[in-house]
Amino acid sequence: MATVEFNRAREIIIGTVRAPALTQEEAPLEEAAGRVLAEEITADRDYPPRPRSIRDGYAVRSADLPGSFEIIGEVRAGEEFRGIVGPRQAVEIMTGAPVPEGADQVVMLEYTRREDSRMVTEKGPAPGEFVNPQGSEARRGEVVLERGRRLDYSCVALLAMVGRTSVRVWRRPSVAIIPTGDEIVPVDQAPLDYQIRNSNAYSLAVQVRRAGGVPLVLPVAPDEYRATRALIERALETDLVLLSGGVSAGKYDIVEQVLADLGAEFFFDGTWIQPGRPTVFGKVAGRFFFGLPGNPASTMVTFEVFARAALELLSGQSQVTLPFFPARLTRDFRHKPGLTRFLPARLSPDGSELTPIPWQGSSDVPAVARANAFLVAAADREFWAAGETMPVMLK
Ligand code: AMP
Ligand code: MG
Repeated sequence: MATVEFNRAREIIIGTVRAPALTQEEAPLEEAAGRVLAEEITADRDYPPRPRSIRDGYAVRSADLPGSFEIIGEVRAGEEFRGIVGPRQAVEIMTGAPVPEGADQVVMLEYTRREDSRMVTEKGPAPGEFVNPQGSEARRGEVVLERGRRLDYSCVALLAMVGRTSVRVWRRPSVAIIPTGDEIVPVDQAPLDYQIRNSNAYSLAVQVRRAGGVPLVLPVAPDEYRATRALIERALETDLVLLSGGVSAGKYDIVEQVLADLGAEFFFDGTWIQPGRPTVFGKVAGRFFFGLPGNPASTMVTFEVFARAALELLSGQSQVTLPFFPARLTRDFRHKPGLTRFLPARLSPDGSELTPIPWQGSSDVPAVARANAFLVAAADREFWAAGETMPVMLK
């Protein structure tokens, strides 16, 4: 079995997970956001369908500029000018209106003055200025959204623009969540001092939903072979199985044993990261699974950096990303090299400055909740001085 470094773990996941033959369904436009496209979307006509003005001003023949023009009419958005702009003629035009035939430039209102019924401008010729040519944004029949795109608000605008009231998307993958541990009690039960409320089932359900999956939260598996095995077997009816806890090296960490006995193939069973070192990734009975370490920060981080990629791929998404961006440290930062660390941090409102948040380790949920990002400390470096940049992952 293998412990792999962070980038290798992601490579393994991205190289292994293939979207299963999910069924397709039709989503109404209003509910399409967040879904993954199962069809190509094409433009139903040229965009713009006619040359269109992108300024308020006058449509003229550029060859006539500069000079004095006879104003022969007006065209606003939602209208067309039935006529041809001839030599030394101008049509007053509003933003969004189709540019009349004959004209090939729009002179902004600010560069013109009226003299009786004429328009005068010092503006020189600039053919095509402030005119969006027909089909310049999209050509009729052109693919404007590819299969495998997760639809954001701009994609929804595009669907509306091309007249789609509904769209074919992949079914959302179902994701079983199995919390494990004898010490874990339900949220509505008063815990004894040596017990812990089940928070992981809740954070994971939120993360699963955010990544486009449908969570199925199963009961807590005690640290006991048969009950754990029964719950995992039940979970295998879903598209992806997430276990929290029970994957460390302790005497009662039996999750891996149960999975092995069920015939699991393990792609890795540890990663050089913190929190989340004992993370397990594999496949059993045709289903991918992750064994995520149970400490809450470990569960949250390993879902974000590993399980989310798998879920997005299972959703039919053709590309997955995990963007890190640089921010300037407000104080020195030091860690012990060897592990890639994801630590709670606070980004300034403009995202430029980064302050690590003191924490007590991977059980410290309040520290993670105070954070709005995780700083990413590379495994091969020990020290970053205040003022240097460090990569950050948004929460
Ligand atoms: P484990 O990975 O099973 O060794 O769990 C490590 C620690 O994570 C446990 O001692 C608990 O404190 C905590 N933990 C495990 N499962 C959960 C859970 N479902 N909700 C909150 N904390 C948990
Ligand atoms: Mg445990």
